[in-house]
Amino acid sequence: MSTGKKVQLQKYRQHLQKVREEIIAKMQRATSNGREVRISAEPSDSGDLALSSYMKEFLYKLNEVERCRFLEIETALERIREGSYGQCVDCGSPLPIKRLEVLPWASRCTACQEKLEQLQQEEEAERGDQEEAANF
Ligand SMILES: [Zn+2]
Repeated sequence: MSTGKKVQLQKYRQHLQKVREEIIAKMQRATSNGREVRISAEPSDSGDLALSSYMKEFLYKLNEVERCRFLEIETALERIREGSYGQCVDCGSPLPIKRLEVLPWASRCTACQEKLEQLQQEEEAERGDQEEAANF
């Protein structure tokens, strides 16, 4: 890996970590508001369990967009560690630097992202039909 690319990666990682920390700080504020309720409802002092339920509550407190963003950031940081960062997960083509500058958590090129969104919309429409059918 060239030095230039390493510097670039470092920049994306810092950007990702900053956004991640902002989301976590926001989540912590939201969680501390409901702390009393949580403790009385959950008298467990197992570290791991507490952490994972804390994480779950954490994610639950976020809105849809923030939750997706947080998971995307986690994945992007993982991909930086793996060395697959900056490639489209679907077609493998390198992501344009401009796209990464704006969306450092992007894991797909614009074309694949659009394809995916279209697919998700179609699936949602289908699921809606099935749910309606199940009600009768
Ligand atoms: Zn692609």
